[in-house]
Amino acid sequence: MAAREEDGEEVLRIARKLDKMVSKKNTEGALDLLKQLKSVTMSLDMLESTRIGMSVNALRKQCSEEEVIALSKSLIKSWKKLLDSSEQRGRERSQSSSSSKDESSSAKKSDGPKSPSTPKMTRFPPLPVTSNSVRTKCREMLIAALQTDGDYIAIGSDCDLLAAQIEEAVFEEIQNTDMKYKNRIRSRIANLKDSKNPDLRKNVLCGGITPEQIAVMSCEEMASNELKEMRKAMTKAAIEEHQMAKTGGTQTDLFTCGKCKKKNCTYTQVQTRSADEPMTTFVVCNDCGNRWKFC
Ligand SMILES: [Zn+2]
Repeated sequence: MAAREEDGEEVLRIARKLDKMVSKKNTEGALDLLKQLKSVTMSLDMLESTRIGMSVNALRKQCSEEEVIALSKSLIKSWKKLLDSSEQRGRERSQSSSSSKDESSSAKKSDGPKSPSTPKMTRFPPLPVTSNSVRTKCREMLIAALQTDGDYIAIGSDCDLLAAQIEEAVFEEIQNTDMKYKNRIRSRIANLKDSKNPDLRKNVLCGGITPEQIAVMSCEEMASNELKEMRKAMTKAAIEEHQMAKTGGTQTDLFTCGKCKKKNCTYTQVQTRSADEPMTTFVVCNDCGNRWKFC
């Protein structure tokens, strides 16, 4: 027991060192630390209390040394297995406890003690099922979006389940897979994959935002702080412009033209969807005439 405690302290010490290396962008000596980690018998408690997975994953992303990357990957993989097996045990426990709830109805059918080999390995909570090919495809795309940066492994999230729950919530609300449903799924995916907005994905992965919440969030709510600031500035500019009673769009230097890289654009905002969604912004470059849409 005492040895275990020491191991935990050792892992925590290594985690702090790795975090420091990553923040200083100097990963010299990382390999030695990883080798020390490999010799530790990791426990679930240690993984959770030290968040060593996050540290090693951050190192893996920053370091260019092949040996470090390979060892990081193999460590994360072995810890992922540990997480998976503990989740499975959790599921089995939940299953046996939920089946004991309806014992009154099943008591007549089964008499002997339950044999431990009978429960089939299923997920808990169970995945909401669908046989609809559009819905299945949407779930697959949501899974890929959630897995964008590889950090789902470090956080230990069940992307299959999260994706299914998000899709299920959208479908529950819209009740078909037409345009509105597809647009809703598409905007979730775009925001989850947005490299400028990694916090959204992390929040969904670690449960800070529930699948039910992200299913109904507006573009505005999902946007990164950077985008939020930009929208605020645009709205303010638009109000000022409106007060001057001008028509035909608002001139701004908030946008950089993708073609000519100049910041001389005019934008107009149009309410294209329901009133609670943010307006679609159409931008035109005054220099080269390039047009684009900004969500
Ligand atoms: Zn231009």
